Amino acid sequence: MNIEELLKDLDKDLRVTETKKIEKTIYITCEISKNESECPFCNHSSNAIHSKYIRTISDLPIQNNEVKLLLVTRKFFCSNPECNNKTFSERFDFVNPKAVKTNRLINYINGIGLRDNSMDAVRTLKDGGINVSSNTVLRIIKKNRN
Ligand SMILES: [Zn+2]
Repeated sequence: MNIEELLKDLDKDLRVTETKKIEKTIYITCEISKNESECPFCNHSSNAIHSKYIRTISDLPIQNNEVKLLLVTRKFFCSNPECNNKTFSERFDFVNPKAVKTNRLINYINGIGLRDNSMDAVRTLKDGGINVSSNTVLRIIKKNRN
């Protein structure tokens, strides 16, 4: 078993290029191994890469160590001349476009937050390797209520 297998639950095409542990945080550099991506505006597939950048995304902890994904995100040129957008950033099913936490981490925090009061939730989460404020817990519960 390796780290990459744990990430396959997020997306089967995720490939790990580097892992690093600094104190209680595990940094996992990863990227999607498929060459192409679909423009979210017109759904045309493109493989013409404009640039790359890194998104730092918190994920579920591993053995109480905080986990941060350094997610290499590609910006593509849209191949559709009819599209109003010249470029687009690739989207991921496991994290929303502007989010800094994976969906599965948000669901986990939501579950603890619904069970405990927010101060207890913060303590429980911290012991398990998730560092969030009570405001964040409350915000997540509120957002997931509907
Ligand atoms: Zn497009």
